[in-house]
Amino acid sequence: MLNTYVCELAHAFLVEHDVCPECNGALARRADEPRATLVAHTVVRVNPSGRPFRLGLAITNSGARTLCIIDDGVRGEEVELYAREGCFHAREPAG
Ligand SMILES: [Zn+2]
Repeated sequence: MLNTYVCELAHAFLVEHDVCPECNGALARRADEPRATLVAHTVVRVNPSGRPFRLGLAITNSGARTLCIIDDGVRGEEVELYAREGCFHAREPAG
């Protein structure tokens, strides 16, 4: 599951904030399905590893947005997000 922080106006974030950055409302944490849709992606060729990787912008079903590293093997726009080493990754959804 994916921790999502949502205010009363349904602004949603994957990163915890003291109050909603959009409306200053209180945020409640809930556990969401980690399904997300990639709305943009690009190939990062210059990086410390020297090995190109894909970087994407994903939106969860709650409307939360995040950058993510796209794992090898992801073919479509529907992905599953998971956190590793301090950043989000996207993998092909299970099932
Ligand atoms: Zn809000």
